[in-house]
Amino acid sequence: MPTTKANSGKQKSAGSEQLEEFFVDALKDIYWAEKHLTKALPKMQKAATTSQLQSAIKEHIGQTEEHISRLEQVFEMLGKKAQAKKCDAMEGLIKEGESIVEETEEGSLTRDVAIIMAAQKVEHYEIATYGGLAQLAMTMGYDEVSAVLAQTLEEEKQTDANLTAIAENNINWEAEQEDE
Ligand code: FE
Ligand code: FE
Repeated sequence: MPTTKANSGKQKSAGSEQLEEFFVDALKDIYWAEKHLTKALPKMQKAATTSQLQSAIKEHIGQTEEHISRLEQVFEMLGKKAQAKKCDAMEGLIKEGESIVEETEEGSLTRDVAIIMAAQKVEHYEIATYGGLAQLAMTMGYDEVSAVLAQTLEEEKQTDANLTAIAENNINWEAEQEDE
């Protein structure tokens, strides 16, 4: 193998075609996941006890709709049809979150602790996905696509930080003081 930079020209190699296919597949996966979240988040919002958590989730429902539009924009930038492909991981995270929440008492702070933990698992999945996709887009020379994905990545990180702040500021402590 020559030591010169492979693929320094922009012509497609078999390798980059394979990578592009992987990239588009991963976009379809997160597109499904975001759509699934717009159905699951309102249920989480309704189940939450404190208005603080309810409004944090409500805000993120709006952002999630924006994430869907951004993905549609990305598909368009790539000249691909926006297509959703079932994401088993997100389906599992939501299912597990719902059953954990059901096991907690309605109107309790323990329920909010459970919702926050479930929501943070979802955000971490999204952070890993968008972080990887933004990096990959950059590697493939899709700088504008990368910038769009990075915008969503920042919002997922911010949401995760907000949830941590809500848990740390009061809910965890108050849940610990809560009577049976
Ligand atoms: Fe999202
Ligand atoms: Fe999110």
